[in-house]
Amino acid sequence: MLNLIVFGAPGAGKGTQSERIIARYGLRHLSTGSMLREAIEAQSPMGIEAQRYIDHGHLVPDELVIDLIAKELDVHPDAPGFIFDGFPRTSVQAHELDDMLLRRGHPVSLLLALEVEEQELVARLLNRGLTSNRADDQSETVIRNRIEVYMRTTLPVIDHYRRQGKYHGVSGMGSVDEIAERVARAIDPIILKR
Ligand code: ADP
Repeated sequence: MLNLIVFGAPGAGKGTQSERIIARYGLRHLSTGSMLREAIEAQSPMGIEAQRYIDHGHLVPDELVIDLIAKELDVHPDAPGFIFDGFPRTSVQAHELDDMLLRRGHPVSLLLALEVEEQELVARLLNRGLTSNRADDQSETVIRNRIEVYMRTTLPVIDHYRRQGKYHGVSGMGSVDEIAERVARAIDPIILKR
């Protein structure tokens, strides 16, 4: 079982590269951002609560996303492995994920961090905002806020997995194909070792 965290700032390309990884390795995609947007779309009570945070570029409360992930792990016990996209985003979430996966006997295999310069992140998000219909991509203030939250609250998650020897950074600059190639070079050796 391969449990892969695809990590990076907003706009780093986590979703795009996750799709490539799924095509190559057949893992199950768990994107907390997508799950939250579906809940908002459905206007469920959880979605309505999450929207208050997301529209301002804040993180939603830890318990909420931890609960979403725990449920997904339970409904897919036979998955060949998971891609965690946009989760964990805080140290609390990282500890919880480790506990959840340990209880299921398959710990995190690798944290793959997509590294992209800040200027490029803002440009990509503003560009995505032209077509994505995502309120959080429309305003530069909200975008800058998301990047700041990433630097302050989410980056420490890297240290958590570095201490476990599981951190692997790749440049997220360049074309989607070039980045996918770098990503595959990071994942293939792990597959071969198993
Ligand atoms: P991006 O990486 O471009 O910000 P996501 O779809 O991953 O896009 O996340 C969108 C928003 O959803 C985040 O800005 C945050 O408000 C919320 N969110 C997603 N995942 C989490 C998480 N693990 N913890 C807290 N909030 C989250």
